[in-house]
Amino acid sequence: MTRDGRGATPGTGRVALVGAGPGDPDLWTVRAARLVREADLVLYDALIDGDSLRGLTRAQLFCVGKRAGRASVDQDTINRLMIRAARRGRRVVRLKGGDPFVFGRGGEELLALAEAGVACEVVPGVTTAVAAPGMAGIPLTHRGVSSAFVVVAGHTPETLDGALRAVRPDGITVVVMMALAGRAAVVDRLVAHGWLPETPAAVVCAAFTPDAWTWTGRLRELAAVEPPAGLAGVLVVGDVVDVPASVAAAIAARQGPEVGEVRYGRN
Ligand code: SAH
Repeated sequence: MTRDGRGATPGTGRVALVGAGPGDPDLWTVRAARLVREADLVLYDALIDGDSLRGLTRAQLFCVGKRAGRASVDQDTINRLMIRAARRGRRVVRLKGGDPFVFGRGGEELLALAEAGVACEVVPGVTTAVAAPGMAGIPLTHRGVSSAFVVVAGHTPETLDGALRAVRPDGITVVVMMALAGRAAVVDRLVAHGWLPETPAAVVCAAFTPDAWTWTGRLRELAAVEPPAGLAGVLVVGDVVDVPASVAAAIAARQGPEVGEVRYGRN
């Protein structure tokens, strides 16, 4: 078998759909790091930092996400690029923010690869649906407070309505993604479905990046919150949002030399 200039061997090409977690390569899985290191071609999304990628692999890097006013590469083109490269024997990593199967179109890409007969592996990632609240010290479930969580897309009120119809406000945490711009509509829909305006709510942006930003308050205040422009963020709604305040109060209430500090997120 011949090898091309980048070390690919025709016939052995494959694609890995890899989750990159919230932003910091420290939160990649070991498998994600290995596949990126060994790849010939990495197609990555806009929320992934190309500069830090360059130090981790000799692969050809290609940003297929929307960047600085440039349109994103459309899904068909991404599929074609992956299929063509794999057929030429290249090891392709399709690197996606968070987990590839949480609002990441990973399923569509998997299907396109299967239809083309290209071998594919899925590598899960730390989804921001869980990691962003976690960075703010918010547990999505908490005994006696919340026994379930629902992750919904908030960019259109219709999709939100469909999901909210299926759940009741008591004892459940709602995480809304892709909803910063439409946060006022999200508040309206939640209240229309029975959530009280006094329900604790949080906004967590750019989790596990140097721009990380958090707000906590009440649902009725959420529409007026102004996160820094240009950041990705999640909304968290439910009584668990008050847990970090209880943790802080417990720390403050302790006396003596063993007073500790709880640190979340980047240290
Ligand atoms: N597959 C991704 C989600 C893709 S949809 C995952 O599993 O995390 C894009 C949405 O993810 C954004 O609109 C935002 O809601 C959320 N998001 C992405 N990166 C984020 C981050 N660092 N902090 C908070 N939310 C983030």
